Amino acid sequence: MEKTFVMVKPDGVRRGLVGRIIGRFEDAGLRLVGIKIMRPDEGLVRRHYPDDPGWLRIVGEKTLGTYREYGMDPVERMGTDDPVEIGRWVREGLVEFITSGPVVAMVWEGNHAVEVVRKLVGSTIPLFAQPGTIRGDFSVDSPDLANREGRPVYNLIHASGDAEEAEREVKLWFRDEELCTS
Ligand code: UDP
Ligand code: MG
Repeated sequence: MEKTFVMVKPDGVRRGLVGRIIGRFEDAGLRLVGIKIMRPDEGLVRRHYPDDPGWLRIVGEKTLGTYREYGMDPVERMGTDDPVEIGRWVREGLVEFITSGPVVAMVWEGNHAVEVVRKLVGSTIPLFAQPGTIRGDFSVDSPDLANREGRPVYNLIHASGDAEEAEREVKLWFRDEELCTS
């Protein structure tokens, strides 16, 4: 049995989507083993989104991918086309956004839980997320709109990207005794 970390971000909580998001994971047969509503402090969010060049690059590349797709010039709009620099800008916005209101932190357990949850959550950019996924069904946001408004992409939910990230994030957000594991 694998465990994965999921967080309903402030936009998902504000929109009253917590119940429906939980329902999607329950419907798929995953088991809820930890849950709490909280307002994370800046330090926790900074540890959650690490200042790691590899991660910053991936996030920046996603932004650049959308710009390419829509024929927009990143230098004109953001002053740079360096993915790491763009990733760093997105990270600062995320710190501000994730600390802006309550989030619901959860741990889900099941067969291939990390992969199953990512499939149900859908692509990072809601504009590109398939219908039937949480991000595809409940949001239309995109990096071009987000950048224009000086904020990260609002995509309702965070889910660990792989097993290593899941292990790190479960430990970061929950103490052992807060989890009802089998
Ligand atoms: N993000 C963004 N613009 C991008 C890529 C990411 O605002 O072009 C934000 C978005 O909120 C995303 C978070 O940064 O959920 C973390 O990015 P990651 O690549 O880890 O995506 P996720 O794992 O959340 O799908
Ligand atoms: Mg991620």
